[in-house]
Amino acid sequence: MSRAEIWTFGDLRTAQQWRASQKVLVKALTLAKAAGTAVSMILIGAPAGTPATATSDPSACVALKEAAEQAAAIGAQTVYCLTHPLLAAPRADLYARVLADFVQQRKPWLIFLPLNDFGRETAAIGAQRCQAGLIADCVAPLMENGRFVGRCPAWGGQILADIVLADGWPTAFVTVPPHGVQIPVNPSALGRIETIALARIALPDGLSLVQRGLESEEGKRLEEAETVVVGGAGLGDMQGFGLVRELAGALGGEVGATRPPVMNHWVDEERLIGQTGKTVRPKLLVSAGTSGAVQYTAGIMESETIVAIDRDPSAPIFQVADIGIVGDAKTLLPLLNQRAQQSALRRLADATCALTPSQEEDAPKAGFGAIVRQLREARNWSQADLAHATGQSPEFIAHLEADKLSPPVSFILGMAQAMKIDPGTFLRKEERAAIRDRRAQAYYQRTQAYSYVTLTPEAANSHLRAFMITIEAQRDHKPVAYKHDGEEFIYVLEGDLGLTLDTKEHTLKPGESIHFNSDVPHKLKSLSTQPTRCLVVLYTV
Ligand SMILES: Cc1cc2nc3c(=O)[nH]c(=O)nc-3n(C[C@H](O)[C@H](O)[C@H](O)COP(=O)(O)OP(=O)(O)OC[C@H]3O[C@@H](n4cnc5c(N)ncnc54)[C@H](O)[C@@H]3O)c2cc1C
Repeated sequence: MSRAEIWTFGDLRTAQQWRASQKVLVKALTLAKAAGTAVSMILIGAPAGTPATATSDPSACVALKEAAEQAAAIGAQTVYCLTHPLLAAPRADLYARVLADFVQQRKPWLIFLPLNDFGRETAAIGAQRCQAGLIADCVAPLMENGRFVGRCPAWGGQILADIVLADGWPTAFVTVPPHGVQIPVNPSALGRIETIALARIALPDGLSLVQRGLESEEGKRLEEAETVVVGGAGLGDMQGFGLVRELAGALGGEVGATRPPVMNHWVDEERLIGQTGKTVRPKLLVSAGTSGAVQYTAGIMESETIVAIDRDPSAPIFQVADIGIVGDAKTLLPLLNQRAQQSALRRLADATCALTPSQEEDAPKAGFGAIVRQLREARNWSQADLAHATGQSPEFIAHLEADKLSPPVSFILGMAQAMKIDPGTFLRKEERAAIRDRRAQAYYQRTQAYSYVTLTPEAANSHLRAFMITIEAQRDHKPVAYKHDGEEFIYVLEGDLGLTLDTKEHTLKPGESIHFNSDVPHKLKSLSTQPTRCLVVLYTV
């Protein structure tokens, strides 16, 4: 007897949920190949042309027709589109009934649902209505000895339990995380699409949909974040956890935590992710030093891509990760941080360079403020700290972060320096060359005010050297700052010499001299209307 089909349920609530559903379809196709059966997909929604209402706006979901075509191309043998005007608003209780009725009619073998709150609820109600089996959080759907085995984390993720269907239970609902597979790029399978217009829908008693809409952004930064970086016990202490903050800041994301960092007060409780914390649905989730207990992974399963870093290759987190890195998080995170900060500064530089003067008034749209704030907060710096580190005023930083002005390129370079990021690593080759040329030009303009004669030509490498320096008459040039080992002696022959020693100003008249430690930065300038001539003697060790 040939085996019944595997079905997968397509969640069309958002583009992200639909991508997750396609990944689950890919997983089902792999299992079907091993089991010698086919996969069909079930899509539920309103028929085309259903008018939108306050509680059911079909345009808020992924379009049924396009989704069906995509699923058929990926490899679903049949895509069943179950439609009725009352199905415009996704409701787990209603969809589960529709799905269960169809399961009872057609009797598939397994029904895969993407692992998220909606999938969990639909699977539980559907399994109860069909009196079918239910396998939750199946990280690895396998065939073993001709039998379906759902490998699922158990005991806080400490073990992986192999769950099978008891004899006499031919059907099971299975929730499957969408990780670890890729959606084919240009799929070209020729699945069939069958639309079934349902004549009658029995609305469940006791519940009615009052309103439907997106939740307000306020207070939901973590749950709504597109990027989340989670730190766990493996980071060791508050300082180690700081690496997670830095990476989140550099990636423009939010910080999350497992229970131990919260219990140790490395981070606020509102950052807890998991069964007793928040559920996140980012496009990218980086999880560092987290073993992958089910109570934690329950809160991250709807993430689009999970990158896990753990030094234990057998940590359960690798079962749910799309990309797993076995290694020391305290070594890897600083490297990732450096790259992420470079690319954040690059984005800032690109956005700044792309602005024309007239666009600068539109700087708020460029979002500079958010990038600067994230980079600053990632370091736990106040606005005053950043102002101090970049030589700006706190008001300048406040205005920048409020998107009231766009940053000059010099500020970006100053920020890179303050963050100890070599600008050479995020500036393009031609930009580096332009900066080098500008510096050389400036140096040339500043030094051309000087000329000197070496009085000890044979002593280029000796300890004692003497020069006759002529500095052009008072000019509007920035004096060059010198700094070298040893001692320096200056005797003024003609004109007035302005000497800045570190921050202290000296004026020397003809016949006057000074002797100082040349380790101290010093600048020379003529203060006369005539050129100033001096004898300079250098003693180096
Ligand atoms: C009823 C109940 C509800 C719970 N709810 C939640 C919840 O909502 N959220 C939650 O998070 N937990 C929850 N827990 C706790 C949960 O069971 C785990 O104990 C917790 O998630 C473990 O956190 P962890 O992964 O950070 O720590 P651990 O399990 O201790 O894992 C630390 C990991 O770090 C790795 N590591 C160590 N050093 C390094 C290094 N230098 N570099 C890289 N990797 C390293 C280790 O190999 C290990 O895998 C709950 C527990 C119960 C009983």
